[in-house]
Amino acid sequence: QIEARSVGKTFGKFHALRDVSLQISEGEFLSLLGPSGSGKTTFLTLLGGYEPVTRGRLMLEGQDMTSWSANQRGFGMVFQGYALFPHLTVAENIAFPLKVQKRSKAQVTDRVAQMVEMVGLSGHEHKKPKALSGGQQQRVALARALAYEPKVLLLDEPFSALDKNLRGQMQEELRRLHRDLGTTFVFVTHDQEEALALSSRIAIFNHGELQQIGTPDEVYERPANRFTAEFLGDIN
Ligand code: ATP
Repeated sequence: QIEARSVGKTFGKFHALRDVSLQISEGEFLSLLGPSGSGKTTFLTLLGGYEPVTRGRLMLEGQDMTSWSANQRGFGMVFQGYALFPHLTVAENIAFPLKVQKRSKAQVTDRVAQMVEMVGLSGHEHKKPKALSGGQQQRVALARALAYEPKVLLLDEPFSALDKNLRGQMQEELRRLHRDLGTTFVFVTHDQEEALALSSRIAIFNHGELQQIGTPDEVYERPANRFTAEFLGDIN
């Protein structure tokens, strides 16, 4: 449903992305995997409409969305860290995008209750973010991004600040949400194991170039080049 056609991004003279072409199907869990600085976050921000592309086109369901604003695209986004509103409670944080959409009060209340339940935060509705653990805060961020039922959810290393245990739990949760919702997930990570565990397909980046895209089995069993083989082999 999403297609990148020869997408490039430069910052001044620096090529952050070069000639990236790929397709993302409806409902898939695509991980963007690569070392630090390989262009994963840049690609996500182009998809979301937070930065303009320098070259190429972005398509959504056959329509050219290259010049659409982030709002017009309407994708959900979960950033690195949590970016919750510190002065708002859990319920208010989740309600925020719904209020922006001018949903009725009853609708907002229902939807917030549903989301709180879905991410396992019942009983925490009236707490402020600082009274929550890192994992709980990340759940609020997920619930907020999913509250208005975006067709596409963009996630930028959402679990990087969590310890290993919690990370495992959150991965499990994300897998369940993806299965239950049928939303398209595009997930940035530099963690090979995380990508393997979660994704229906993995797009591997290095130096701003797409190296390979395929199912976890495909990229593992048939790495396209030396970089991919070494990067995937580097699991510890
Ligand atoms: P990380 O895992 O460290 O976030 P990444 O793969 O997501 O890495 P990007 O954040 O996309 O990489 O960055 C790719 C390159 O583009 C980096 O070298 C970065 O310094 C550069 N870059 C990103 N944003 C900007 C910007 N606004 N201005 C200048 N250079 C930028």
